[in-house]
Amino acid sequence: KEIDQILDRSAVVSARQLEFWEWIASYYMCSLGEVFKAAIPSALLLESETIILPNKNFQWQGEEFFSDQESLVYEALQHQSSLKIQEVSDIIDRKNVLPILKALIEKQVIQLKEEVYETYKPKLVKYVKMHQDYNSDQALSSLLDTLSRAKKQREVVLKLFSMEAVTQKPIQVKELETESKVSSAVVKSLIDKGVLEVYHLQTDRVQYDGQETVESKTLNEYQSTALTQIKGQFQEKDVVLLHGVTSSGKTEVYVKLIEQVIQKGQQVLYLLPEIALTTQLIKRLQQYFGEKVSVYHSKYSNNERVEVWNNILKSDDKAQIVLGARSAVLLPFSNLGLIVVDEEHEQSFKQFDPAPRYHARDAAVVLGKLHQAKVLMGTATPSIESYFNTQNKKYGLVEINRRFAGVLMPDIELTDIKEKHRKKRMKGHFSDRLIEAIADALELGEQVILFQNRRGYAPILECQECGNSPQCPNCDVSLTYHHYRDQLRCHYCGHAMAMQQSCIACGSSELSTKGFGTEQIAHELADLFPEAKVGRMDSDTTRGKYSYEKLLSSFERLEIDILVGTQMLTKGLDFRKVSLVGVMNADNLLNFPDFRAHERSFQLIQQVSGRAGRTQKRGKVIVQTYNPYHQILQQASMNDFQAMYTDQINERYQFKYPPFIRLIKLVFRHRDFSKVNEASDWYVQSLKTVFKGSGTEILGPVFPAVARIRNEYHKHIIIKIPAHQSLPKSKRAILKIDKSFQAIPAYRSVRIVYNVDAQ
Ligand code: ADP
Ligand code: ZN
Ligand code: ZN
Repeated sequence: KEIDQILDRSAVVSARQLEFWEWIASYYMCSLGEVFKAAIPSALLLESETIILPNKNFQWQGEEFFSDQESLVYEALQHQSSLKIQEVSDIIDRKNVLPILKALIEKQVIQLKEEVYETYKPKLVKYVKMHQDYNSDQALSSLLDTLSRAKKQREVVLKLFSMEAVTQKPIQVKELETESKVSSAVVKSLIDKGVLEVYHLQTDRVQYDGQETVESKTLNEYQSTALTQIKGQFQEKDVVLLHGVTSSGKTEVYVKLIEQVIQKGQQVLYLLPEIALTTQLIKRLQQYFGEKVSVYHSKYSNNERVEVWNNILKSDDKAQIVLGARSAVLLPFSNLGLIVVDEEHEQSFKQFDPAPRYHARDAAVVLGKLHQAKVLMGTATPSIESYFNTQNKKYGLVEINRRFAGVLMPDIELTDIKEKHRKKRMKGHFSDRLIEAIADALELGEQVILFQNRRGYAPILECQECGNSPQCPNCDVSLTYHHYRDQLRCHYCGHAMAMQQSCIACGSSELSTKGFGTEQIAHELADLFPEAKVGRMDSDTTRGKYSYEKLLSSFERLEIDILVGTQMLTKGLDFRKVSLVGVMNADNLLNFPDFRAHERSFQLIQQVSGRAGRTQKRGKVIVQTYNPYHQILQQASMNDFQAMYTDQINERYQFKYPPFIRLIKLVFRHRDFSKVNEASDWYVQSLKTVFKGSGTEILGPVFPAVARIRNEYHKHIIIKIPAHQSLPKSKRAILKIDKSFQAIPAYRSVRIVYNVDAQ
């Protein structure tokens, strides 16, 4: 098409960024548009509106030429040069304006135009200066003479001069008013007289709060050695994995590296698993780097995001270090020198829904290549994939095996909660061992963290008579009991209903709960330790904008003695006073039906343990389990990453899982049960034919553990492509099948999701 108008004076995306987005679309099997949509803050996207204009060729043909409503529109257009659809609708007092517009277009009275505009609104601040007429001393002194009676106005003029002389910066109208202690009316009258002149400057919405920066810390010998090794390995490798135990001081090592990169004038991307959960780290980096740190925050407004975006695009100093969760890899960097991927093992780096289903850690490696930037991954518990890459020499490896300042690794104790192995009965979900340890910690004024990976009170409510348990009407899953609201709630679709007093199936009032969540633990604590102040941290209690920060700071201020929570607790928190960590039930971590369940259990136990004993006293961790001899628990309790890795990598090899194969998961979704079955059967047959004899394995279709969500049935197909086979070629073959599939009318309404490197 011909170019109608040029909207942006310069491109809002960079060339490298586009190249990177294209890679994401092709690698993760989605459209480029889906990547655009995920990447670009919607305020940078253009919106359009239809504008109604008079047709210049129109010649007056007499009153009777128009219907009543048409003439109303015609008349309005005589007064206004253009109308919006909504205005037309108001004029004729009708919702549907299309018939009228159509008639007017046919009669060549009006024409339509698409007006395109940006929704981003820059924030403008009012500044003030002397009108140039008063630049000379003479003009000024005669002005002051004429103002001799208007004392306050005179005061303002003098103040403006002194302020300008001192600050050498533009003066805001607001500042001038406060400084000269006058009402805004006084300043306004000077503006009206033309003595002062107002102008506007664009300012950032997100502003650095201006606290003093401090020098970064001097590294100890283990950190310095690590830093030297990292720099050494970067000579040969683009990616280095820093494997340092919890509290070994990894962050300070990143900081030193960042300092060197920004000195060269390059940008740094610091990726975190979840930005909302890392207030402590943001503060720490701002202390060192001040306003050079920009945060790309999910809680930011659209306009705020555009500002960060533009600062990065312009390579502005304000965005030299960008901190963000996974979507920050999509930002318009032009000059990246370093990417830090903190907590590289975290699964939240992989986007689950919607497309692009990318893994930010893996994508960061590609982004680094495009910019010839180095990538430093750091964690206390490396993912099997990343560690494998160090073993086959693709990535460098640097280790720190000691906690900072000689703090000992926590003592992890596995406690068997099988009734027959205990001297004392369990009190609720607490073993005597855990109760004792909590009592000891509280006695000494220390804090306790308890981990349970379920929220709510109990995941299942069961009838003792008939075994029935209330299910979600929209999903194939039991409703979770939430005590606080006395409700049963679905954790998949949010459906809620009042707690049942009797069984829906048989009417019996003998109902009991099975399983337990954070809420129940908090309740039991209130009975066991009535004096202790208990806090709960899960997605139910941290929904509000600052509720997470509030919980954290009251824990920091020691207003909470025992903090009970889910996974959120494991995310890089650093509290001095925590001496005890309890894992309420390790078994439901281990029994998760997933090839990564064991790796994840190890990571979780190690990470949550890492919150204990960060000061001189050795921390204590108590893990409650029915299987204290389970290999993974043994390995976690002995901090034996090597043994865990060796076991897991062998299993992955034996049972054909990543990194030895590439895994693509196809999810079929439809409200009609038989349609999902037919469609996935058709697809699997095609896959099997195409990949016959290639070494690629096709599994399924199978229903997942929760086969129906929001009234849609889900069915999965897993494709396992051997690592040595060409992935692009395999994807092309799959996309060819997809094309034939889409052409079948009966399957048109079936949704297929492609998830490459599915978790
Ligand atoms: P990690 O990221 O490995 O868990 P951190 O970087 O958070 O460890 O360090 C743990 C604690 O030790 C932090 O409170 C940090 O301030 C402190 N620390 C680390 N390195 C130093 C250092 N070189 N000098 C002083 N304090 C340090
Ligand atoms: Zn019943
Ligand atoms: Zn549901």
